[in-house]
Amino acid sequence: MRLESKHPGFDRFARLARFIEGVEKAVAHKKSSEHQKAKQKFTKSNLPSKVCVVCDRPFEWRKKWADCWDEVKYCSDRCRRRKSQADAS
Ligand SMILES: [Zn+2]
Repeated sequence: MRLESKHPGFDRFARLARFIEGVEKAVAHKKSSEHQKAKQKFTKSNLPSKVCVVCDRPFEWRKKWADCWDEVKYCSDRCRRRKSQADAS
């Protein structure tokens, strides 16, 4: 058995250190995105609503729009498709 100048476990340790660093970054990122979601949390009594630009009917905030409520213009996928068809023709 030959002795290496470098500690034989060093590479493994370095990989482990990088792995832990990555996990810490992922956890920090998750925490910040959870914080952003908490800001946009609505209760049943204060759900915001908008009027659909295609069918002119009001619709209420839904959980699936939590991250993009500002950009939502249509009450449903059907109306969004109708709008894009109208633009195309
Ligand atoms: Zn609509």
